[in-house]
Order: sequence, then structure tokens, then C-alpha cells
Amino acid sequence: MFSFGKGVGVDRSVMVAQDGKASKNRQPPLKLLRNLPAVERVLEYPEVVAWIEDVGCTRQFAARAAGTFLEEIRAALVSGELDGETMKARLDNLAAGVAAVAGKLTQPHLRHVINATGIVVHTNLGRSPWPASAAQRTADLVQRYLNLEFDLEDGGRGQRAQAVESLVNQLLPGTEVVVVNNNAAAVLLVLNTLAECKEVVVSRGQLVEIGGSFRIPEVMTKSHSILREVGTTNRTRSRDFEEAIGPQTGALLSVHPSNYRVVGFTEEAELEELVALGHDYDVPVVEDLGSGCLFDLRDVGIHDEPTVAQRLATGVDLVTFSGDKLLGGPQVGFIVGKPEYIAHVRSNPLYRALRLDKATTLALEGTLAIYVNGDLDGIPTIRMLRMPVADLESRAKAMANRLIKRECGALLEIVKVFSQVGGGGAPGKDLPSFGLSITPPDTAQALVARLRTAAPPIIARIAGGCVILDVRTVLPDEDDALVGSVANALID
Ligand SMILES: *Cc1c(COP(=O)(O)O)cnc(C)c1O
Repeated sequence: MFSFGKGVGVDRSVMVAQDGKASKNRQPPLKLLRNLPAVERVLEYPEVVAWIEDVGCTRQFAARAAGTFLEEIRAALVSGELDGETMKARLDNLAAGVAAVAGKLTQPHLRHVINATGIVVHTNLGRSPWPASAAQRTADLVQRYLNLEFDLEDGGRGQRAQAVESLVNQLLPGTEVVVVNNNAAAVLLVLNTLAECKEVVVSRGQLVEIGGSFRIPEVMTKSHSILREVGTTNRTRSRDFEEAIGPQTGALLSVHPSNYRVVGFTEEAELEELVALGHDYDVPVVEDLGSGCLFDLRDVGIHDEPTVAQRLATGVDLVTFSGDKLLGGPQVGFIVGKPEYIAHVRSNPLYRALRLDKATTLALEGTLAIYVNGDLDGIPTIRMLRMPVADLESRAKAMANRLIKRECGALLEIVKVFSQVGGGGAPGKDLPSFGLSITPPDTAQALVARLRTAAPPIIARIAGGCVILDVRTVLPDEDDALVGSVANALID
């Protein structure tokens, strides 16, 4: 047999040494390596055959799992992590080992986490959780056929966005809507429709970057429109816009300062002024509102975040905004505004590439229906924003009491904290909330890391050497899981 001769073993040891996993002088335990079975043989072991039958996987997949399992043992032997006895124990349990590897190979990456950061619209944690009614209807219907583009009355072609359009008409009378994959797509589509090979006039104070990958100048380049920046970083006046307008102008653009504030000696042209200019010179005016609120945040004490309706009332031609930020629905981008411009947007061939799929359309129908009927607590994002401080305090107390009973050996306190709206809504504005402050026996960094790898993982923050869990963003049915995960992370 040549397959596993001495030379191969020596070669391996050199390779591993270069990888830095083993010391130069260590020889691989050749005899043990020779005892490892070949993949083909492993696939014939009765327990493995039974496992393959049980899960119904292909032989090819089983071979990959077995190969990976053997490779892991081989590497551990070479590095010295595994001795002969442990190796034998692993091989005695071969089917279980192969099954475990197979599980890892097909493990989904995305899983449930508990958001204890207090940031309501947390982009890294999926922004808005979907309303339960919308999620359930979506899950039911995507498993079946549905009348996505079929008219049940006349048997002809139907419109997928029909209900979405009718719901938006009820919420924002007199406007039409086009919905695409996200707000970045909405901005791209609008600019390309109105200003391909033409200039778009924007204030230098609004050439923003949102979340790392959305940068107004770059989106503009990709839309084939030409950026015409006016004014200065801190001050731009309506006159600056007026001086830039000419036959080459495709649109005037206003961008909502979603994640920053310019403070001090500042000035921006008001949207009303841009609308007046657009009217005088016959140029469309567009606003990228970012986190579009249909709900008036003044109800929760945030005063400078305009609603979509308020912006449309200025007479602006088109407004774009996200569906999964303050609106609290699935990831979509809305384009709303005057019917003549919307018709223009809808006939752009790019729209076909950016439109919604059936699952998102269903979830959006369900979310907008809640806005129309007014039962806003059905939208988790809105419910969290409106949660009374007294309720937050009593939840924090209940959690603390349960943890104290479990004698976790950490210092626990109920603290007043500030939640954030997040998602580019109301930067710098905080919502008073309650949380748990935990001082662990070791370090706050170590506890935060343990919470992150708990089941389910809890995402928390550190302040002043303590771990802070803000209860506002912990969903009501997650209190038990949170207490369990925290207790385990403290006792470990
Ligand atoms: C969030 C945001 C975007 C990007 O929206 P997505 O829905 O994430 O594509 C664009 N512009 C502004 C002003 C935003 O706040």
C-alpha cells in the first residue's frame, strides 16, 4: 500500500510546522495516523449507513462530512492535541462525530438574539422585528400559490403592489407610491429616472454616508446623474441652489441628516424654499428622508423628526424612505409623491430589477394595514418607542429579583438609562428607560462576551465598568430567556 507511506507523513509534519501549529521537531505519530480509516470505509460502517438513511442525505454529502471529521482528527493528532486513547474514543463514536460535522456544514448562520442594547432600530440586529400578524400571514402564504400578479375578477394580469398602493393612498392621500428593495434602491431609481446625464444639486452639508456603504456621491455616480454640490459644509442657502440651476439641472435633492448633526454656525436651505425654486424653474425636488416616520414621534417626546406627511405637505415632488427603520416593517424603500413623477419612475426599466418579492410584499401589506386601522402596538418598533417608563421599570425590577434569587454572585442594580431610536432616526435624542447594571466578579468585557455566546445570545453594552441591559428593546416574551442566559453567564 502506497497510500499512507512514511514520506507522506513527514511531508505533513513540515507543512504543519509552517502553519505554526506544531513545533519543528515533533514527528507525527505515524502509527496512529495509519489507523485512521479511509472515507470510503467509514461510509460502510453500519451506524453511518443508518445515519445516512435516517437524514436522507446524499452519499456525496456524507463523504464530505466523514472526510472533514477524519481530517479534524488527523490535524489534532499531528498537532499533538489528541492522543491515541482519545482518538480511539472518537472513532468508537464515529457516526455521532460525522453527524455533528454534517450539522455544522448545514448550520444556518442567522439566529435569534436578544437585543438589550436599548437601540430600537439596530441595523446590525436586523432593524425592525416584523409585526407578528404580518409575519404569520407571510409564512402561511409563501408556502402556497397566490394571486401575486393575477386578477381574480377577470382572470387577466394583476398588480402585485395593489394593496400596498391602496393602503398608502389611505395613509397619504393624494400621493402615489412605488416600492423597491430598500431606500438605497429608491434613491438610485429616482435619480436615474429624473436626472440621467443631468445634474442633481445638493448641499455640501448633506453629502452623507449612512452605515458605511451608502454614500450620496457614489449612489449618484451609479445612477448616471452628475453631482452638483453647492454651499459649504456648515452653511448652504437657497441662493446657492438658485445659482446652480440651468438647462443641465435634473433635480434638486435634500438629504435628511440621519446619523449626524451640524451644530454651531449653520444654515441649510429649507425644503419649502427648494420647493419654491423647483416651481419657479420647473425642476423636480426630491427628499431622501431616510427613516420615514408615518407615526408622529412627538408622542414620545422627540420633536424634530418630521413625518412623511409633513414633508409631502411642503409640496416636494418625491420623498424616499426605508420600510424597516421607524416605519417598523420589512426591508423596503418607498418612493412617494406626485403621480406624474411616480408614473415616470414606474416606467424606468431599472424598477423591474429593484422591485419587491412576494414575501416582502406580503409583510408590507400586513404592516401598512396596521397603520390604517390604527392599532400601532401591533408594530414592535412603535410599541418599543412608546413603552411607558413605569412599565420598563417594573420589568427591570422583576428581572433583577429573579436573578438575585438565583444567587449569581454579581452586583446587580436597577438603573435609569437612555435608549436610542437608532437607524438614523433622531440622532442625539434619547428616550428615558430602565435597565439592569451588572458588575460581574471578573470583568465587564468578559461577561459581555459570555452573553454574546449564550443561548440565546444577548447583546449588551458596557458603561463605567458595568454591563448594562436596557429592557426597552427586550421583546416582552424574551424576559425568561434573558434571565436564564444571564444567570448561566454569571454562574459559568
Ligand atoms: C438609512 C438611510 C438610507 C439607506 O436606506 P436603506 O433602506 O438602508 O437602503 C439612505 N438615506 C438616508 C438618509 C438614510 O437614513
